[in-house]
Amino acid sequence: MSEYKMMINGQLVDAVDGKTMDVTNPANGEYVATVPCANEKDVELAVAAAKAALPGWKKTYIGKRAELIFALANKLHEHAEELAKLETVCMGAPISKSLAFDANAAPGNLEFIAGAGRAFYGNTISANPNAQVMTIREPLGVVGLITPWNFPMTTATSKLAPALITGNTVVLKPASCAPLSCLKIGEYAKEVGFPDGVINVICGPGSTAGEAIVKHKDVAKINFTGDSHVGKRIMYLASEYVKPVASELGGKNAFIVLEDANIAAAVETGVYSAFFNTGQNCGSPSRFYIHEKVYDEFKEKFIAAAEKITVGDTMDPKTMMGPLAYMGARDNAEAMIEEALKDGCKLLSGGARPDTPETKNGAYLLPTILEVYDNKIHFMQEEIFAPVVGFYKIKSAEEAIELTNENDYGLCASVWTEDFKKGMRIIDQIDTGTTWINQHLEIVTETPWGGRKQSGWTKENSAIVLEEYTYQKHVWINLSDEPHTFWEGFLKDIIK
Ligand code: NDP
Repeated sequence: MSEYKMMINGQLVDAVDGKTMDVTNPANGEYVATVPCANEKDVELAVAAAKAALPGWKKTYIGKRAELIFALANKLHEHAEELAKLETVCMGAPISKSLAFDANAAPGNLEFIAGAGRAFYGNTISANPNAQVMTIREPLGVVGLITPWNFPMTTATSKLAPALITGNTVVLKPASCAPLSCLKIGEYAKEVGFPDGVINVICGPGSTAGEAIVKHKDVAKINFTGDSHVGKRIMYLASEYVKPVASELGGKNAFIVLEDANIAAAVETGVYSAFFNTGQNCGSPSRFYIHEKVYDEFKEKFIAAAEKITVGDTMDPKTMMGPLAYMGARDNAEAMIEEALKDGCKLLSGGARPDTPETKNGAYLLPTILEVYDNKIHFMQEEIFAPVVGFYKIKSAEEAIELTNENDYGLCASVWTEDFKKGMRIIDQIDTGTTWINQHLEIVTETPWGGRKQSGWTKENSAIVLEEYTYQKHVWINLSDEPHTFWEGFLKDIIK
C-alpha cells in the first residue's frame, strides 16, 4: 500500500532512528504497509510535545475543545470506507464488520463524549455554614493511551474523547499489527485544527515504545486496553511514580442458558457473540453453561448455525468471519484445543483450518465447539481470544453461578431466561462488570464497560469515564473572619 508516518507535535515524522516495521494482512500474509518503529527517543519527543501543548489546551474553552472533537468525528465519517479498509487489511476483520461497526462506533465515541463532557462538573459541598466548599475538575496532564488491535480506532476514540474534552493532551500508541487507522486519526487531528502536540500518535513495539510511555515521568496516567498479563506489567512499571493505570483487560465470559430460555434467541446471539470478529472480543462468551433439559436442543441448533458462518475473503461483503489477527494467535488457539482434547473434552465442531484456496495463506480457523466435563481445566479458565467455545451441561442455576465465578476473570456474563426475577437474582450473584439478561456483547458508547478481578477495575465508555481523566481538586473558602481551629481558645489568649 504505502508508507505511513507518526504524528508528533503536529508533524508527520519517521522514527528518530529511521527504523520501520511492516504490517501484513493476516488473511493472506501479504504486505500492507511500512510504518515507523518508535523507541524511547520518539516517546521522549511525543511526551515533550504533549507537555508543551498542555497549558494552552487546558485553558482552551471547553466548547472549542468539543468543536474540534466533533470536527474529528466528521473526518472519520467522511473517510469511513478508507478507514474500514485499513482496519480490515491489518487485523483481518471482514469488511462488513469494519464498515458496519467500527466506522460508526469510532466517530460515535467522539460525538457522545464531546457533548457529555460539557455537562461534567465539580460539586459544591455543605460542609460548613461559614465556608464555600467545592470540588473543581482538573485535567491529569499528559495521558498515555495504549490500545489493542481488535477494534483499533473504536478503542482509540473511546480513550481520546474523554482525555481531550477534559483538557488532557495525549500520546496514543496503537497495536503494532494494526496501527494504520490510528495513524490516520493523528493526521486528521492536524487537518481539523487541533493545536500541535495535543494529539500525538506513535507506533512501535509494546516492549520498548509502550514501556517507555508507561515509565515516563511526565506521563500522568496510562489508559490501557489489552491482555491481563501485559496489564499487570504496566501496573508494576507505573507504580514507580504511583501513576494511575486504567485497565480494560481480558475475559473468560460465561453464557448461561436456563431451562426456560428462548432457545432460538439464545442460539442466534450465542453464535454471533462467540464468533463475531473471529471471537476476538474481550466480551465474547467462551464458556457456555447450558441446562440439561435444553442442552441437546441448544447444542444441535448452535452447531448447525455455527457451521453456516461464511469464513473467507475479508473484502467480500458476504464474509462473516475472517482470520485471526496473526499467525501466532492461531497457533495459540490450536494449542489450547489440543490441550483441551487431552484433558478429556470432545470436539463437537470445527477444530480445523478451512480448506479453501482463498484461506490457505491466512491465519484462519473454523468456528470451534468443544464439549467440556471439567470446569477447572485450562481451556475453561484461560482466555483464548479466538473462535473457540466450550459447552458444559449444568443441573441448576446455582451450579451455573458457582462455575461462572470460579474464574480469575470478571469481565461479563449473560443469563438466558424468560423469568426476569430469577435472572436478576442470578445477576446479583455474578462477579462481573457487565451482566446481560437475554443479550450478549451489546456494548455501546452510552454504557459503562469494564471488568472486575483480573479483567481490570476501571471503566470505558459512558459519561462516568470522564472521572477517569480528571483530578478533583477540593477547594475550601473560609467566609468567616474568625479562624477555626481546635486550639482556638488557647491561641486567642496568647495572640489577642
Ligand atoms: P496486548 O496486551 O498484547 O497489546 C495491547 C497494547 O499494549 C498494544 O499496543 C501492545 O503493543 C501494547 N503492549 C504490549 N506489551 C506492552 C508492554 N510491556 N508495555 C506497554 N505496552 C505494551 O493485547 P492485544 O493487542 O493482543 O489485545 C487482545 C487483548 O486485549 C485480549 O486479552 C483482550 O481480552 C483484551 N481486550 C480487552 C478489552 C476490554 O475492554 N476489557 C477490549 C479489547 C481487548 P504491541 O502491539 O506492539 O505489542
